[in-house]
Amino acid sequence: MALASVDCAVGQPDGASRGVNPSSTLNPISLHAFNPGPMTGAGNWTWLIPGRVPTLIDAGTGDPRHLDAVSEALAGARLAQVLVTHAHVDHASGVVALAERFPGAHFLKMPWSERDSRWPAAWEPIVDGQIIDAGDGELRAVHTPGHAPDHLCFWHEESRTLFSGDLAVKGTTVYIPPNLRGDLVDYLASLERVRALAPARLLPGHGPIIDDPETVLLGYLEHRREREEQIVNALRSGEATPDALVPLIYRGLKESLLQVARETVLAHLLKLEREGRAARRDDWWHIIEP
Ligand SMILES: [Zn+2]
Repeated sequence: MALASVDCAVGQPDGASRGVNPSSTLNPISLHAFNPGPMTGAGNWTWLIPGRVPTLIDAGTGDPRHLDAVSEALAGARLAQVLVTHAHVDHASGVVALAERFPGAHFLKMPWSERDSRWPAAWEPIVDGQIIDAGDGELRAVHTPGHAPDHLCFWHEESRTLFSGDLAVKGTTVYIPPNLRGDLVDYLASLERVRALAPARLLPGHGPIIDDPETVLLGYLEHRREREEQIVNALRSGEATPDALVPLIYRGLKESLLQVARETVLAHLLKLEREGRAARRDDWWHIIEP
């Protein structure tokens, strides 16, 4: 699960495979996971880093065409490891097929115990800040919760490249689902954490490469601030349920996106509650004015 199409359409990657060359020590190859759908847009990108420690970032869903693409990109090398950004199905479920196809590969992610067992692999835990050999260099794990509690980005310092998972998707917003332990307070902190790295580019799990990270990340922060203001203003006219707020915030929303919109509104309400700016009685929310 990746993103909300509530605000605008998902970016369409062009073609099934692209090479980018951020530095001589990192030459990641994007490999499409062949899994388009309502929650994944055009589908996922995974990233193969060739070199001494051939590394795949994200597992896709096990589509045979993806496995073939990984084989081809490896060009005869073994697959050493798969680093998974988070346990959502479109990023993690492919580990089962990858383990069969590439015996000896290691599977690493930050643990999320309730979810990881869905994709039975010999998971090895990653902690925040861990340095991981990958390709011919090193990546640093950066814990960036919000979209999911276990969300990691992987930072390549020399080229200032961040493998950004579902932290950002160019042209749309990222879904923060409270019912799946999404957390807007954490997400905003993660955006600031990544801004502080001053990345030159983000290589995401969906959509095109983001080569203007500061613009995109600042845009996200501004977007959330505006959403929050809309919700606060709506609550000023009286208490309301999240369901009642949705049509006030998202006008003309397609039926299929109602649940995503409701979760997004709820994520904002929970943030306001944590900050002591809103409170609820059952499902009815009201604003607390200073
Ligand atoms: Zn996701």
